Amino acid sequence: MSHLLHRGLRDIPPQAVSAEGLIVRLADGREIIDASGGAAVSCLGHGHPRVIAALRAQVETLPFAYNGFFTTAPAEALADRLVGAAPGGLTHAYFVSGGSEANEAAIKLARQYFVEIGQTQRHRFIARRQSYHGNTLGALSAGGNMARRALYQPLLSDAFSHVSPAFAYRGQEPAQSEADYVARLAAELEAEFQRVGPDRVAAFIAEPVVGATLGAATAPAGYFQAMRAVCDRHGALLLLDEVMCGMGRTGTLHAWEQEGVAPDIQMIAKGLGGGYQPIGGILISGRIIAALEAGSGAFAHGHTYLAHATACAAALAVQQVIADDDLLANVRAMGIRLDDRLRARFGNHAHIGDVRGRGLFQAIELVADRDTKTPFDPGLRLHERIKAEAFARGMACYPMGGTIDGRRGDHVLLAPPYIATGAEIDRIVEILGEAVDAAI
Ligand code: PLP
Repeated sequence: MSHLLHRGLRDIPPQAVSAEGLIVRLADGREIIDASGGAAVSCLGHGHPRVIAALRAQVETLPFAYNGFFTTAPAEALADRLVGAAPGGLTHAYFVSGGSEANEAAIKLARQYFVEIGQTQRHRFIARRQSYHGNTLGALSAGGNMARRALYQPLLSDAFSHVSPAFAYRGQEPAQSEADYVARLAAELEAEFQRVGPDRVAAFIAEPVVGATLGAATAPAGYFQAMRAVCDRHGALLLLDEVMCGMGRTGTLHAWEQEGVAPDIQMIAKGLGGGYQPIGGILISGRIIAALEAGSGAFAHGHTYLAHATACAAALAVQQVIADDDLLANVRAMGIRLDDRLRARFGNHAHIGDVRGRGLFQAIELVADRDTKTPFDPGLRLHERIKAEAFARGMACYPMGGTIDGRRGDHVLLAPPYIATGAEIDRIVEILGEAVDAAI
């Protein structure tokens, strides 16, 4: 009997006792390959000596200093590292404890920005269906994952509405060109602005590559530029949630670098600290900071653990290792290999409808029928069976169930650490192939 409230009360997960690289060791002696870095968190793998040394040094000198009274060297250095060169016009960083808090902060800052510049009527947000922005009430209101929203629907804010995601596998008509598909999605966003009232919209929120809810779904070329154009036309902000797809996972430090747009506010977490400490943050454009400076002079939001010294020290070390070891080059090279191996193994598989993703962020979608793209009955809980079969073969991967309305089949998301070798990528795909065949 466990006194810890786990995600499920019936299935207590096995106990992890140590970890190194891609391997997590269990109390019963088994070794598990961490093929998804947990939930796309462990970008450096486990037990990296430089991060552990940085953590130890910070804990021995200054584990914590309350942000209401003090700033600290690791927090300042992390902000310098992330926005010192003002990438995309982002000039300031604000550090919280995770991805949901990052989304809450972004939503509140967007609202405050418009109050500061006298556009107090702007309090509406447009997000996308089949998106995930976190589990706190503001972030859940933004999110379009109906399963996660259902129970809390009466508590969610009606300041948020949703448009279609960019999901070519199911959204693009067979006879439709990519450009036409993008134009249709832009027209839908424009129509939503008009429905809500264009001067009432504060921001459009989206994940550049959709993680948990769609499984590494990339947008068609030109999509984000088209969305940015709609936002610009109506004076609304663009908020990009890179909590899962960012900090190098897709082969560039920020996923938006590959989309030809920069956000006004960017949300980051997971790969920022690589799981060594809980940390998230937002990166903020200079024009928002300028508005606050000229106005109230403060961001009207805060938490006890803002810019936590030990969390910032861990994230700083993670980011230094990624740069020093040129790990983004490995993400790109291993991403090509992962894509190649997945297509070789599943390209002609009767029950894999789509292989998708970018860098070390890829997924397979399972379907009962490839031609009609009909998902398996969600009641079969195929994703859970794949997870169990993979685990029995020594691998942890991140599966997600299909939707009852058939708008998505079960999928499995792979997000290996950036240090993964070719042999490890091959082994991951081999085990996934066996697990899928055993589960169906
Ligand atoms: N945003 C995205 C895109 C995510 O994938 C997640 C978590 O999976 C979150 C926000 C929430 O982050 P957290 O679980 O750290 O609160």
